[in-house]
Amino acid sequence: MGSPDLNGQATHDFIVVGSGAGGGPLAANLTEAGFSVLLLEAGDEHICPYYQVPIMQARASEDADMRWDFFVWHYADRDKRERDPKYVEKEDGILYPRGATLGGSTAISAMITLYPSNSDWEYLASLTGDDDWSPDAMRRRFERLESWRGPDPDPAHPTRPGDGSHHGYNGWLPISRANPKIASREPWFLEIINAIDAESRATYHTPEDVVLPNDPNDSRFVENRGEGMILVPVAVGDGNRHGSRERILAAQRKRPDKLEIRPPLAGVRSALRGRSRCRRGLPLRRTPLHGRPECSRRTWPWLSPEGLCSARGDPRRRGIQHASDSDAVGHRPSGRA
Ligand SMILES: Cc1cc2nc3c(=O)[nH]c(=O)nc-3n(C[C@H](O)[C@H](O)[C@H](O)COP(=O)(O)OP(=O)(O)OC[C@H]3O[C@@H](n4cnc5c(N)ncnc54)[C@H](O)[C@@H]3O)c2cc1C
Repeated sequence: MGSPDLNGQATHDFIVVGSGAGGGPLAANLTEAGFSVLLLEAGDEHICPYYQVPIMQARASEDADMRWDFFVWHYADRDKRERDPKYVEKEDGILYPRGATLGGSTAISAMITLYPSNSDWEYLASLTGDDDWSPDAMRRRFERLESWRGPDPDPAHPTRPGDGSHHGYNGWLPISRANPKIASREPWFLEIINAIDAESRATYHTPEDVVLPNDPNDSRFVENRGEGMILVPVAVGDGNRHGSRERILAAQRKRPDKLEIRPPLAGVRSALRGRSRCRRGLPLRRTPLHGRPECSRRTWPWLSPEGLCSARGDPRRRGIQHASDSDAVGHRPSGRA
């Protein structure tokens, strides 16, 4: 855990707020790099079959012990947003659940793991002026985190390192997809799949010798802006959900002395548990936490402003340096899942 400072209080090298897709892997990477990390997570490690069993995903997103209900606006214009059939008048918004448990929203997500378009990375690189967002740099990161389990579209020619697919095989996140052969157990399902196959070939002029469904995470498919039938890759390994929670717990098993996970404030968890209608984050603990004078915020942008810094006033006045600041953070609560 953190080392004691002159006042005998534990000081951590890093404090990470939120254990979701952003904070979880960050905390784990820092831990494995030998830093002492305090991970503040408002939810707890709720365990239930809905969490683990992929097909129960929809139920997981409704589990009051793992979710946190937000209500968002899709339009700034009041008239427009009230015309949305999903608008809930009492809550003045549209239901937008988020995960509130160890692993954040990756604990209730549908596990779909699709590699983004390269044009997205190019846009981010030009927006930030940082080549670390370039398609090549981001693909290397994907290869590092992925543990591709297949099955490949063409079982006769499975993907392998160095074949141009740029899948990763040794990362921490298992990614697999349903085996189309399973469909043959149910004739109607098989008929549907065959119909989709035929429609896709006709629409995208796919030759008969190309095996469908495509693999949308194959780098060649991404580079060619591939279109047509795909089978959705999911973050599932050995039949179980995988996400930030597994990454965090694996790092903690390796370095139990380096990673401490705590709620931000006593009572925060029970506040979350009541389907809280929240637009803003939750209050932070009142007892002091000691990190080095640099703060690391990695929660969903909405939650983060209330996360470490804004609840305590301007962080710069507390000697916390911002690595970067963005007007967008916390100002556009209109995200789309
Ligand atoms: C139902 C659902 C299905 C989804 N399906 C998919 C999918 O199939 N594929 C896909 O790519 N994406 C999916 N997403 C989106 C994806 O899960 C999120 O984009 C991603 O998890 C966001 O990561 P994050 O770290 O920013 O936030 P989150 O993962 O939401 O993590 C934020 C964490 O911070 C904690 N927190 C908040 N405030 C505080 C505080 N003050 N102190 C301490 N902790 C705090 C929360 O409890 C939470 O654990 C889905 C999301 C939902 C809700």
